Amino acid sequence: MSSIGSLAQMRPVQAICPVFASFGLTTIRTLERGQYRPLVLAALLVGLCQTGEAQEAQRASSSTPSGGAVTLFQNVQIFDGKSSTLSGPRNVLVRGSQIERVSTGPIPTDRSATNVLIDGGGRTLMPGLIDMHWHTMMVRPTPAALLTGDIGHLNLVAGAEATATLMRGFTTVRDVGGPAFGLKRAIDEGTVAGPRIFPSGAIITVTSGHGDFRQPFEVPRILGAPQSRGEQTGAAMIADSPDEVRVRVREQLMLGASQIKLTAGGGVASPHSPLDASTFTEAELRAAVEAAENWGTYVTVHAYTSASIRRAIAAGVKCIEHGHLMDEPTAKLIAEKGIWLTTQAFPDEMADAFPRGSLERAKALEVFAGTDRTFALAKKYKIKTAFGTDILFSQRLAQRQGELLTKLVRWYTPAETLVMATGTNAQLLALSGKRSPYPGKLGVVEEGALADLLLVDGDPIANIKLLEDPEKNLLVIMKDGRIYKNALRN
Ligand SMILES: [Zn+2]
Repeated sequence: MSSIGSLAQMRPVQAICPVFASFGLTTIRTLERGQYRPLVLAALLVGLCQTGEAQEAQRASSSTPSGGAVTLFQNVQIFDGKSSTLSGPRNVLVRGSQIERVSTGPIPTDRSATNVLIDGGGRTLMPGLIDMHWHTMMVRPTPAALLTGDIGHLNLVAGAEATATLMRGFTTVRDVGGPAFGLKRAIDEGTVAGPRIFPSGAIITVTSGHGDFRQPFEVPRILGAPQSRGEQTGAAMIADSPDEVRVRVREQLMLGASQIKLTAGGGVASPHSPLDASTFTEAELRAAVEAAENWGTYVTVHAYTSASIRRAIAAGVKCIEHGHLMDEPTAKLIAEKGIWLTTQAFPDEMADAFPRGSLERAKALEVFAGTDRTFALAKKYKIKTAFGTDILFSQRLAQRQGELLTKLVRWYTPAETLVMATGTNAQLLALSGKRSPYPGKLGVVEEGALADLLLVDGDPIANIKLLEDPEKNLLVIMKDGRIYKNALRN
């Protein structure tokens, strides 16, 4: 739990942060004029007290051993997130939030009441799964609900989904767009059970780009006019010049973004952007890259076409999301430049979020048709490829998150697939550098790594389909050394 976890424990605002006390009052006056929601005020007042020191304490509390609690896994075979085979029998000691020891011999513990002993019975211990393309706030609601729904309700739904995500064995997600900062904080504080979140904050888009969900009546935008609904909620920010891009990027970094997400080309779900459109100019993309790199992190972009991918790479972007419509020379360029690719084997049902006959549905099917070629190109040129599902607008589909991983055996061996969703994904997370919210090693089972662990009832390399039914086959789910599920407990 964070040291600032409880409002009741908080000292008065002035006592902690006098500099901001008057700003808080200004905010109250603004609220009286009806420009802000009560929730925004509450968030501000709580957030204001989280100046440097408190934020540091929060960061520290999530990285130090959680009370030194000890869990000993006995007699497990390890899939370590890197190798193509399981280890022989091992014992694994977790102390606090870290894996302290991995041993072939017995590990003595002092059998005090806080120790948990888990007899693995020869089952497989593996790293928690990582989804590198996730939208924490947008998994369950329909597009219409997201644009028109009550914010409090949307937050609670996202919290419930975060718990379900963790219980499917996904201990970390990289959130590539959406107002996830509050949920992330609630998870890190222990208020809600959920995965670690690497947040991007708002998706940054151009006018009419992927992420501009305004209606025609909202155009033209008059300078100084209120923000659009998507901007008010922090889902997406519209920026139309290098300077505006810099502001929007720096705002997300200020809020705690661990990487920055821009939409470099048209998208499926947005009503005004054709798939073939390249959206930001190279100068605008470069402004985002500069701002992110000055902050020690990187920019990833949504891009399907060769043109949008090439422009992004020229501007210094380090990761491409999707790439489904790229040509072979572009795949070669991605490989040569060492750029990451996060692409998806979208299930056809995903198009069901859009009505039959709609433009969005047609765009979805056009993208899906590129899946096979994209994975083939990624393999042929040995592109650094990360696994991420991009599940949107469907709780039912989210329940199949593990199945979207196992589908990759169409292109990769089961071991390659498992390495991608653990150790390889963690390498891309590490691009966030010091902006990582969770200092420490993720995605591997080794001494010193963060203890995000799954005990699988069987050998997932021999039978990767075990991950399609996490409720049955994941017997233990641990994140940060804390056990969230233990089906072996008597
Ligand atoms: Zn996405």
